[in-house]
Amino acid sequence: KNSNGKYTVSFIEGDGIGVEISDAVKQIYSAADVPIEWESCDVTPLFINGKTTLPQQAVDSINKNLVALKGPLATPVGKGHQSLNLTLRRTFNLFANVRPCKSIQGYKTPYENVDTVLIRENTEGEYSGIEHTIVPGVVQSIKLITKVASERCIRYAFEYARSVGRKEVLVVHKASIMKLSDGLFVKTAEELASEYPEIKLSFELLDNTSLKLCTDPSDYKSLVMVMPNLYGDIMSDLSSGLIGGLGLTPSGNMGDKVSIFEAVHGSAPDIAGKNLANPTALLLSSCMMLRHMSLNSYADKIENSVLKTIASGPEHRTKDLKGTSSTSNFTEQVIKNL
Ligand code: NAD
Repeated sequence: KNSNGKYTVSFIEGDGIGVEISDAVKQIYSAADVPIEWESCDVTPLFINGKTTLPQQAVDSINKNLVALKGPLATPVGKGHQSLNLTLRRTFNLFANVRPCKSIQGYKTPYENVDTVLIRENTEGEYSGIEHTIVPGVVQSIKLITKVASERCIRYAFEYARSVGRKEVLVVHKASIMKLSDGLFVKTAEELASEYPEIKLSFELLDNTSLKLCTDPSDYKSLVMVMPNLYGDIMSDLSSGLIGGLGLTPSGNMGDKVSIFEAVHGSAPDIAGKNLANPTALLLSSCMMLRHMSLNSYADKIENSVLKTIASGPEHRTKDLKGTSSTSNFTEQVIKNL
């Protein structure tokens, strides 16, 4: 806590719709009297010796506060430098990405009882960023899997399952083809299993999980999925689709010291600046953050109000949820429902 008796949290507002949805969070937090003071963090990257580097002030703020909330950051395509999201994950060693997806009562989708938790390895795999041109017209991209990174992520999945009372950890992989890399991920999970005797460990091939998850997501209700980076990226968007889209799904990037909470979606340049963005994903990410900080009563208050607003009908929902509300009207309504 700071000298005002409040917790200081670093806030990366982000690009595109980031500004609008961050503003919604700030207004709602202030109305709900959450004991948090935001410390605004500029992460406009610097390029030092050809490497994407974060401004020192941002690094210092996050290292001091240990918790950050983050809006989406746009990644320029093909400009030759590393994604800022990747740089953040590397800088703070945010090794596990937790992505829960729960049906929103009152917003109808083909499935009503989705309740999945997906944990994605967050630092390596296809996203190691090791790519080279061998000769013009031939490029090589290296998928790196290490035992150290696999172990800390899978261990996190076991610990998470234990803490929330889920009885099974499901490793999603493609070791049938990638025998060494995904094979190591699978083997590491097998080795850890004896430390968690009360939790069942099971395995499933990625293509099979894709099919089963969108055929009957209720099969995945009482387990925690864990998988390498790229698979987790794709499967979490698939899970988002099951509950109504990217505007709804939160996430937490967990490290051994720092945690950064963010919406799964990007900067949505197609709707940026138009007062159309749905702030729910960032709000629910912030509720994950509040629970991480043991401020559960504030998390419950804000989450209940967001869910009540969505359930109250299309006039209070944003366009992505087939509603007619603007970002600012939705925000006002959440404040009324607090
Ligand atoms: P996107 O998630 O920004 O948008 C995909 C679609 O979903 C768009 O039609 C968008 O309008 C809609 N959408 C997303 N969030 C929404 C919200 N809160 N409310 C309403 N509609 C929403 O994905 P993209 O277009 O592929 O990427 C845009 C930029 O964001 C890229 O530069 C990409 O690199 C970046 N990105 C950043 C992150 C991150 O910061 N974690 C994640 C994904 C993409």
